[in-house]
Amino acid sequence: MTTKRQARWTCLTCGEGGLAPTKPRRDDVRRYCLSCSAKTGRLVEKVAPSLEKKREAQTAKTQERSKKKRQKEAARRGRVTANERLVKKREKLVLEEAERLWKLLTPYHKGKPIPRIVITDTRQTRGASGYWRGGGFFSSGEITLRLVPFGTGNFHEARSWKVLLHELCHAACPPKQGDSHHREFYYAMKTTTEKRWKCFISFASLTGNRWGYHVDDVILSQLLRLAVVKFPIPETRQRPIK
Ligand SMILES: [Zn+2]
Ligand SMILES: [Zn+2]
Repeated sequence: MTTKRQARWTCLTCGEGGLAPTKPRRDDVRRYCLSCSAKTGRLVEKVAPSLEKKREAQTAKTQERSKKKRQKEAARRGRVTANERLVKKREKLVLEEAERLWKLLTPYHKGKPIPRIVITDTRQTRGASGYWRGGGFFSSGEITLRLVPFGTGNFHEARSWKVLLHELCHAACPPKQGDSHHREFYYAMKTTTEKRWKCFISFASLTGNRWGYHVDDVILSQLLRLAVVKFPIPETRQRPIK
């Protein structure tokens, strides 16, 4: 036979006490003070102070735990809304700049509507990237911009801005004979950059008739040297901890 754990049960009215199991059966006489019950005509229950104390401690612990959980949840929600605010702020900033550039690109698109712009986060740390998907005759298609979520600093500002301009130039200067990075396209980038930042971009280092991504590098490196681009995109996410 196993001995059950015992506790002292005491009557709060007369003080009479005795040992009984910590979990006595409902009809166990040791749960009740028989003399007080006989006097009052009703069953008078005894209490086990040690068990009460334990139960109270348990309740306090549970309450503390759920309080911590609630606080944690509120903090997480706070972080999410802070992030959403930053994402909205970033979108507003990019769209405003896009409107501005689209106006400067009017000689090329001749009044077509501005393309739809979808902004996402890139996983690459080297910087922003993007692509343009052409629309039909009346539409300017859609630009997807992948921005570095923690891309602050001169390099990322200039690169993000240059990528936005690059994709807008695609919408303004559609491909010619299957070539999307043609001469006119890059001249649109050059003149728009010069108008926007009141500077001069030199294509003198370009040799022959080679047009392509290296022209982007030529524009970007000059922009960085001139330090004219002001395109501070908010950090929408915290820099990963290494
Ligand atoms: Zn009693
Ligand atoms: Zn391109």
